[in-house]
This record gives sequence, C-alpha cells and structure tokens, in this order.
Amino acid sequence: MNHDRRSFLQKAALAGAAAVFSPRPLISGPIHYTVNDMKLRFSPYTLELKHTFTIANYSRTTTPDMMVEVEKDGIIGYGEASMPPYLGESQESVSAFLSKVDLSKFSDPFQFEEILAAIDAIAPKNPAAKAAVDIALHDWAGKKLGAPWYRIWGLNPEKTPVTSFTIGIDTEEVVRQKTQEAEIYKVIKVKLGRDTDKMMIETIRQVTDKPITSDANQGWKNRDEALKMIEWLATKGVVFVEQPMPKEQVDDTAWLRERSPLPLIGDESVQRLADIKKAHGVFDGINIKLMKCTGMREAYKMITLARALDMKVMLGCMTETSCAISAAAQLSPLVDWADLDGAVLIKNDLFDGATIVDGKVTLPDRPGIGVVKL
Ligand code: MG
Repeated sequence: MNHDRRSFLQKAALAGAAAVFSPRPLISGPIHYTVNDMKLRFSPYTLELKHTFTIANYSRTTTPDMMVEVEKDGIIGYGEASMPPYLGESQESVSAFLSKVDLSKFSDPFQFEEILAAIDAIAPKNPAAKAAVDIALHDWAGKKLGAPWYRIWGLNPEKTPVTSFTIGIDTEEVVRQKTQEAEIYKVIKVKLGRDTDKMMIETIRQVTDKPITSDANQGWKNRDEALKMIEWLATKGVVFVEQPMPKEQVDDTAWLRERSPLPLIGDESVQRLADIKKAHGVFDGINIKLMKCTGMREAYKMITLARALDMKVMLGCMTETSCAISAAAQLSPLVDWADLDGAVLIKNDLFDGATIVDGKVTLPDRPGIGVVKL
C-alpha cells in the first residue's frame, strides 16, 4: 500500500468517525442558513350560529372569524381567530395585526418561544390574532413531526374530560327544548346573571338531573345577593359558578369565595398567564380559552402554574370551528372541566377534528392539532 492510499484510508476512517460522533458538517466553509420560507395566509370567515346566543349583556346570531394558514415544506398548518364582538377584536383588527407578522425572520419554525414572544411584542392585546398564528404553527410543527400534540406533550388521550353543553339565557320553552337536545352531554352549562336565573335552573331540573355548571358572566353586582343565589344553586346540583361578579369587584369576589359553598371560577378576570397571580385567593380555579390567552403554548403554561397554586382548571372556548376546538382539545387531558362545544353551536364548520362522543372530548389520531379540511 503506497503512502497516498494509506493516507486516503486514514482520512476516510476519520471522516467516517466524525460522521457518527459529531453533529458538525464535514464540509467547512462559509455557513449558509436556509431562509425561512414559511408563508402566512389569512382570510375572513363568518360563523353562523344554529341558535341566537344570549348571555348576561347581549345576543347575537353570527361570530366574525379569521382562518389562518402557515405553509412550508409542502405542509399546511391551520389556525383560527374567533372574535365575539364584546372582546374587542374584529376582522379588521386581526387583518391589521396579521399583516405585521413576518415569519421569514425566524430560521427555525420550531422555536415557538422566540417566535411567539416576538409576535406578542408586535402590539398589546390582540389575543385571538396571536392565537391564530400559535395554533397554525403548532399544527404545522406537529404535522412535520408526524405526531399529535397530546402525544408530544406526553398526555393520555383516554383522559380527556366530558364537555358541557351551553344553554344561553332564554325563555322557558327554549331552555326546555335545548336541555332535551343536549341529551348526549353529561353536563349542562347554564348562563346566568339576569333576573331569570331561578327559572333557568328550575326548567332544566324539570327535564334532567345531570350536573349543571353555571356562568354568571359578571352579572351579579351585589355580593350578598350573589351569596344567596349560590347557596340556592348548591341545593340544585350545580357544580361551580363562573365569574359571579364584575372583574373590577375583586374584593367582593374574594369575600364571596370565603363564604361560597361552590367553587368560583375566574373567566373574564383571567385572560393570560400573568393574571393567575391576581386570581389566586380570589377564585378557586380559572377558565382558560385559547382566544383569550394567545394560544396553545401560553395555555399550557397557565395550566402548569394553576396546578402549582392548587387551583382548578377549566378549558373553555368561543364559538369556533373544529380548528380551534381541536387545538384546545389537545390540552384537555390536563384539565378538570371542559366546555368545548363551540363547533357544535355553528352551522358552517370547515374542519373535521376533535369530536364529542357520548359527551366526552375525543381526540383523533392525526398529527398536529388533528384536523382535516372538509
Ligand atoms: Mg365564562
């Protein structure tokens, strides 16, 4: 063996060893980062509700929505922003916000922490617009990895909770009819906060003895009256009360919690991670919604913090398509209660995804957030 050939073999062996043990490329020279060619698209959509929806302060028959897609490497990730008008976002504000999102600045679409922090810093508020991008990125990344998010997070899909079915404030006849329609659901959620509260509960009780969860949507202004109502609700098989008083009445809510026979859950009072500090000691638990908290990543952090503070966790939704509902459903094995009936309340869903089977949230075995476009 001549010298050149021995030298060649030694170099080849070293190169082979380097290929096995070193993650560094064998070719030296200038480093070229691939330009992130991830594309972001969005288009407005209007959700049509099956029934007029009434809560403590207003009614509506449609909900403005924005469908969002990110695309890279031939994979499309789906996201969605739902904008019930009382939350202050609109198709115009979401379009304006999304127009400022530039994903090409980031070389690695898996670096959510950095990407989502930068998107959050574009402007304050806009939680639904931010959630739409967060959901689409999670869907894309899960599809790229070939795994659903519940599996990436290490969760058991069998541990999903039952979901409640929501009955809005309405006439006795409609409440009775909706209670009958809710047959497959194991829990009824009822909207309270007006002078019809006792009628609502009594009407449901004429039809079923299922557990009832309740949501006053800040409708009770007087703490003594609120306490009397909660004491009465406790005798009617009601499980908890969401947002009994206006979010500004923090001291009254804390007073109420000390005396309430039922757990109090903060919804309007708790939007994002930082709000949990203020809610601790005022509420027994929190209601997390992707459209309030900017998406799946922050929702996961909120669940972790609430658990560390011994607080109960509920996962809720707006009226949404199965896109955002399926994204929230990925987290549902971690929570105590789910209220994920948003897609069931609309006539024009665009996706097949998480479903409700015998009242239980059921996760599809599909990567990402688990949806396919219909
Ligand atoms: Mg609520």
